[in-house]
Amino acid sequence: MNYKVGIPQGLLFYEYYPLWKEFFSELGVEVLLSTKTNKKILDSGVSNCVDDACLPVKVFHGHVIDLKDKVDFLFVPKIISVKKREFECPKILGLPEMVSNTIKDLPPIIDPEINLWKSEKNISDSITELGKVFNVNKSKTKKAYKKACNKYYDVRRHLNSHVIPIDAIKIYNKLLKNTNFKKKDRLNILLLGHPYNIYDEYISMNIIEKMVKQDINLITSDMVDTKKINYYSKKIPKRMFWTAGRRLIGSAYSLLEEEKVNGIIYVSSFGCGLDSILIDLVQRKASLKNIPFTLLTIDEHTGEAGINTRIEAFIDMMKWRLNDENNISTHG
Ligand code: SF4
Repeated sequence: MNYKVGIPQGLLFYEYYPLWKEFFSELGVEVLLSTKTNKKILDSGVSNCVDDACLPVKVFHGHVIDLKDKVDFLFVPKIISVKKREFECPKILGLPEMVSNTIKDLPPIIDPEINLWKSEKNISDSITELGKVFNVNKSKTKKAYKKACNKYYDVRRHLNSHVIPIDAIKIYNKLLKNTNFKKKDRLNILLLGHPYNIYDEYISMNIIEKMVKQDINLITSDMVDTKKINYYSKKIPKRMFWTAGRRLIGSAYSLLEEEKVNGIIYVSSFGCGLDSILIDLVQRKASLKNIPFTLLTIDEHTGEAGINTRIEAFIDMMKWRLNDENNISTHG
């Protein structure tokens, strides 16, 4: 029997989709993605999720609703930890339970537990269980997983060569095809934020496209070398135990310390517990380095006009600063 597995285009989809897609394809399972985020998905997510969840979690619920009647299984992995001594956000690790308790009439949920907190090797049981769901033997499942991992590392290598991930790759291809990514006379602006906030075109209101059109060199955390991220994330006094935090802090600190960035735009979801700490750490460091920083907080009520004005004003101010007033602080 040909099974169809639905993958919601939300949250860690923006990180692990290449791995999941390759794995299921190797098992002979068809993958169906939810529709890209749109108003209908946002509205259904908002009305089917608890009020105090952050925007990306609400949107994820909308994607589940979009898929639930079209597939045999839903893939909502329970991702607790993807690196030794690190955790994902509590809202991400409780996702399968949250979804299954709030949305009715769901198909069976495939929710393998990924927990590398103690060791980075104990994933094989979860993978073997996944294969069993589709009657695939252990050895074939392991091979599929190995191939999927190779694919994932390939994609990450490309990202480190300044390619923007997943959907943003399309924007990148369309807009940056014939341009030199690192033009010397352009501003280097770091767009910081969780991948599902900055790469989801609807949530971010196409921020990547808007920024690229302003003739700047756009940088995201995914484009910063992992070794540098790991090195600079250790510069804060207490060890960062959130994977997302390590990436955001490490990439921002690396670019600030090495003086490779002219300004930082941080996109955050209203009510994000992690960001309440991460924003402060990045903002303080940027201030110490005299680098302009602006925060765009988004929720389901955020208007696009306000975001456009903020981005344009911020970039205009930095262009002016670069050309005319090189040493003037823009912090006020
Ligand atoms: S890290 Fe923040 S935005 Fe992401 S799921 Fe957790 S609370 Fe929501």
